[in-house]
Amino acid sequence: MFKKGSKLYSISKFKCPRCHEGDLYKSSLASMQGIYNMHDNCPKCNQDYQKEPGFYWGAMYIGYALSSGYMLSAMVLCIFVFDFTVNQSFATAIVGGFLFVPLVARLARAIWINIYVKYKPSSNKV
Ligand SMILES: [Zn+2]
Repeated sequence: MFKKGSKLYSISKFKCPRCHEGDLYKSSLASMQGIYNMHDNCPKCNQDYQKEPGFYWGAMYIGYALSSGYMLSAMVLCIFVFDFTVNQSFATAIVGGFLFVPLVARLARAIWINIYVKYKPSSNKV
């Protein structure tokens, strides 16, 4: 969907922000086991994924923004498209929000590291 070399490619595919080849996470989201476990370094280019202790604390802000955006969108969709009451919309958005927690957490980390690491296509050698 997104071209290799763009930040959106790295974020949407959970790939290394530097080489766009190695995986950020040890397992896929579908496996539902150890879904938050990241590699310490890129398996392809050796980019350090743990830049400093507590590096991913900042990803909480990204996760907050993503979750807020989702909640607002879900509420508006439920109220204006499906004609739910406010309480029904809120309940629906919260249930959906819990289902999206793993995806949002992984996306937030991928976005966070993409802010700090630039794409270098020639860095595919370990
Ligand atoms: Zn890499």
